[in-house]
Amino acid sequence: MNLAKARRPWESCYLRCSRNAVNSECPPVGRTRPAASFRESTPLRTAPTTARKDGQWRFKFSMVTPEMKIETLAVHAGHGIDPATGAVAAPIYLSTTFERDIEGSYSRGFMYTRNNNPNREALERGISALEGGAAAAAFGSGTGATMSIFQALAPGDHVLAHIDAYYGTSRLIREIFLRWGLKADFVDMSDLAAVKNALRANTKLAWAETPSNPLLKVVDLVAVSEIVHDAGALFVCDNTWAPVLQRPFDLGADLILHSTTKYFGGHCDVLGGIVVAKTENDFVQRIRSIQYEGGAVPSPFDCWLILRGMRTLPWRMRAHSENAMKIAGFLAAHPRVARAHYPGLQSHPGHEIAARQMSAFGGMLSFEVKDGRDAAMSVTAKTKIFIRATSLGGVESLIEHRASIEGPATRAPKGLLRLSVGLEHHDDLIADLDEALG
Ligand code: PLP
Repeated sequence: MNLAKARRPWESCYLRCSRNAVNSECPPVGRTRPAASFRESTPLRTAPTTARKDGQWRFKFSMVTPEMKIETLAVHAGHGIDPATGAVAAPIYLSTTFERDIEGSYSRGFMYTRNNNPNREALERGISALEGGAAAAAFGSGTGATMSIFQALAPGDHVLAHIDAYYGTSRLIREIFLRWGLKADFVDMSDLAAVKNALRANTKLAWAETPSNPLLKVVDLVAVSEIVHDAGALFVCDNTWAPVLQRPFDLGADLILHSTTKYFGGHCDVLGGIVVAKTENDFVQRIRSIQYEGGAVPSPFDCWLILRGMRTLPWRMRAHSENAMKIAGFLAAHPRVARAHYPGLQSHPGHEIAARQMSAFGGMLSFEVKDGRDAAMSVTAKTKIFIRATSLGGVESLIEHRASIEGPATRAPKGLLRLSVGLEHHDDLIADLDEALG
């Protein structure tokens, strides 16, 4: 298919309906929107569309193409000039309900905000284009987005997850989805033989996260995706820690998960999550129906904030990575540090793979203070710029004693501190850590 030609009809079109056919009073409306990435995709619903005239679309998106550089995509994908006022920054559509046409249809594309909302549509479109996907579904948190992926499986299906996945994801599988009938195993996905051995006939999905939390282990996405695909399962990559720097669809992933609470939002002021799919298929349709029938949707304002954050994401990721690289070098050489974990360090066991699959090594790192827990806690008590707080991806640097946050099931060493390196000057951050380490 000629992609240049394929995207022509969409270049000048306006925000369209996507999922307003859930009310029995309302005739089904087909989802005719082409994929945000302009990849070939099939329509989501095959039901006939109601009449919709081009002049009725309310919002015109900027044209973006997959050939654009990531910085350009980040600024323009999901954005456009408001046709009513000429506003350059998109309006926030707080309305929960939308006017119906005289004959009963919703020709302007929106019915009820849980089903869809212009700001959510813009966010999904924007992040999907940035990741090079075909579709996306946004949620009220990263965990809500993760839930939707497991909920789209059926009881009895087997999931293989990285042993070092975000502890909230492991907890979700163990405490909710095992009870719900999913089968699961956890495996160190940096060990390819272990991945092969852990696959079962009923394995439907494998869940990787790289670099991982809090030990910054690196999973070879290309190698694992091949093994998983050979077994006929879907491969999901939680890309929360490395947006823009790592392109999981190019490395074999079928679905990407982001906690947009982190780097996409970028300012520790909004909670969100998104599932991005490489292609449209039944599984994605199930995720979308879980999204709007389950109702764990983000507010219009949250969507707006996350899309606003995306505009500076590539530049922020570059600066986070530069700062983290300098801090990792400083920590690796510090006499009070037993080990520094950062994939940018040549001594890191996953360095070569990370160098192959990432354009920079990200803003997250961890290190182990000699003498264990109390010594580590005393470092967190002394920093003046690093803030003692959980989470990551904001402009301010955070420091966290991971074992005490994760509780008894933690795999984090007792003396381990995790840093979310922010956008302050690295000299100030290094001086702060130097003083706190004593
Ligand atoms: N995935 C990763 C890698 C995370 O670090 C987190 C949160 O820290 C999540 C998912 C869950 O995201 P949220 O807190 O937005 O639910």
